Amino acid sequence: MSWVDKLSNTVSVTAKNIGKRSTEVVEISKLSVSIRRKEEEIMKRFEEIGQYVYGRLKKLNLVTRDELREMLAEIEKLEKEINTYERLILDIRKIAYCDRCDIELEDDARYCPLCGRSVFKGPN
Ligand SMILES: [Zn+2]
Repeated sequence: MSWVDKLSNTVSVTAKNIGKRSTEVVEISKLSVSIRRKEEEIMKRFEEIGQYVYGRLKKLNLVTRDELREMLAEIEKLEKEINTYERLILDIRKIAYCDRCDIELEDDARYCPLCGRSVFKGPN
């Protein structure tokens, strides 16, 4: 391979890496936007619950969990979706995390410091 070939090879590899990185940045910002939307949705649900509870308490002095079941389920669903997006961002950024404790770990961590679970994924 001539030095010109070597150079153009290096350039194309570098360009590929930059391309990959910018795709990752785009992916992360898309996910961040989705997370923000879901968080706004949750805030709306909180407001609805607040209004509902206020209305009920004004008349009845009692609200049961059953009455709020659907609204709570919607919030839980949104929270799970946010969690999924946050994990995807960590995966893209290649940040290790513990599924069980839901915490980020040090780059070189092989075990979760909280639960002791092995999180070693092997060399990339
Ligand atoms: Zn853990």
